[in-house]
Amino acid sequence: MSIQTVNPNTNNVVKSFDEMSDKAVDAAVAQAESAYTEWRKTSYEQRAVLLHKVASLMREKKEQLATLITLEMGKLFAQAEGEVILSADIIDYYATNAKKFLGDKHLNPEHGKAFIRHSPIGVLFGVEPWNFPLYQVARFAAPNIMIGNTILVKHASIVPQCGIAIEDLFKEAGAPAGLYTNLLISGRRASALVADDRIKGVSLTGSEEAGASIAAEAGKHLKKSVLELGGSDAFIILEDADIDKAVEWAVVGRLNNNGECCVAAKRFIAVEAIADEFLAKFKDKLSAIIVGDPMDPKTELGPLSSEAAAVQIEGQVNKAVAEGATVVLGGKRPERPGAFMNPTILTDIKPGMSVYHEELFGPVASFYRVKDEQAAIKLANDSPFGLGGSVFTKDVKRGEHVADQIDTGMVFINHPTWTQADLPFGGTKRSGYGRELSELGIDEFVNKKLIRTS
Ligand code: NAP
Repeated sequence: MSIQTVNPNTNNVVKSFDEMSDKAVDAAVAQAESAYTEWRKTSYEQRAVLLHKVASLMREKKEQLATLITLEMGKLFAQAEGEVILSADIIDYYATNAKKFLGDKHLNPEHGKAFIRHSPIGVLFGVEPWNFPLYQVARFAAPNIMIGNTILVKHASIVPQCGIAIEDLFKEAGAPAGLYTNLLISGRRASALVADDRIKGVSLTGSEEAGASIAAEAGKHLKKSVLELGGSDAFIILEDADIDKAVEWAVVGRLNNNGECCVAAKRFIAVEAIADEFLAKFKDKLSAIIVGDPMDPKTELGPLSSEAAAVQIEGQVNKAVAEGATVVLGGKRPERPGAFMNPTILTDIKPGMSVYHEELFGPVASFYRVKDEQAAIKLANDSPFGLGGSVFTKDVKRGEHVADQIDTGMVFINHPTWTQADLPFGGTKRSGYGRELSELGIDEFVNKKLIRTS
């Protein structure tokens, strides 16, 4: 049984699911295609009514959905409630704004008259990760349903009940059969499904390996793909930063979602003048963090999403130490059941060590001390990833100048990388391509059709 709810707070199996048969998947794709022929004819207003209903049901069921998220992947319950609201906000945002974003665009050609009409392209396939089980789906599904496309989602195998709950919300809101379908299948079968002629585009959020596999299939079959992959965001602290504020945000940036965010602050880069002060205060705050049951409101750090994730990050720390890194704090898993890892800080990391280039998906911070601003930028850019990043300085103009020189898709000044409906999200380099959210996020799977009259 590869599709299972396993509570990471205890590592107990809660529920197992059978994968869908090939026949059932084929029927689901056929139904999505047939739904498309009707859905594409609906108006923006009709689509918006449905999505507003989905968003309002999500808010109504906030506690129930948040409990499911926490049960399946270990997010702190309050953060899970926040995710439900954020997801509903994203759905409402596209329901409200899609018509404006997708209106005809009139051109001024040298000869004749012309405009661009935005048309849907058909059935889309989304492959989604477990770390934000509702939010990841919302930011893919909502804009595309507003365009007039129909949606198949293969959710991560460790959050099957979240995947089913989202499909149920669409059903309860009155979505026509085939508009939104949850597929209970493995990752391997997800890649193979991209070849299906009836599927016109694919979007994956997840690891580089899965992204490469999906993109290879999409390329082979000449389909558009969007990839939102991993990150190793730099968190730069300059000498003129408000250090206490930087430390507070450093803790949030590293530990939010139990450290399992693609845009978590992962590499803390402090300039020499304030490096000791920052590190001492960061260590103090992290050593006071309460680790425990994610349903307990006092808990500040819950378990990782699975035992495999905890084993992986502990292994990365051990390898880093074997290669010469120093553990300033933590480094071990607490002695209790569940997929836990203690807050950890690593220093003395050098180029060539595996941890220098890898993503640390958990509560483990890499700390670097550099001479000055230029050295900080150079180190920030010495990463295979290019997702987000942040710069802490009291001089916002200076922050913008530094941001300009960082090779990522997003840079925040005096704040960790964050997300909201009206800000584009996505990366460069090995963090993927394409954008989700904001007006840019509705632009990926749309036919920008030129219509010219004489
Ligand atoms: P993952 O293993 O790649 O899983 C993501 C999804 O891909 C799951 O649904 C998974 O299915 C599926 N999958 C796995 N192997 C596949 C394959 N060969 N072909 C097609 N689909 C496949 O990623 P993860 O480890 O769960 O998630 C963490 C990664 O996602 C991190 O690197 C993180 O930074 C990244 N992430 C990026 C963003 C962003 O917006 N840039 C956001 C969140 C997370 P199964 O569960 O069935 O294996």
